[in-house]
Amino acid sequence: MAEFENPYAEHSPFVRAHFDCLDCGGKLWEYAIDKQMVCEDCRSVFDSADVFDDQIAAGD
Ligand SMILES: [Zn+2]
Repeated sequence: MAEFENPYAEHSPFVRAHFDCLDCGGKLWEYAIDKQMVCEDCRSVFDSADVFDDQIAAGD
């Protein structure tokens, strides 16, 4: 019997990202399916690409 393995089935859909919230500086969690990040403190949702760009710019 063939089985389809869903990579998300056995893991949390949230992946801790190495980015800080753009609003409050809290930790962001990346929602792997939708490519969005959610702040664990203020629950703001950001597009992963926007967060990435902002963090790169801030590090300059
Ligand atoms: Zn926040």
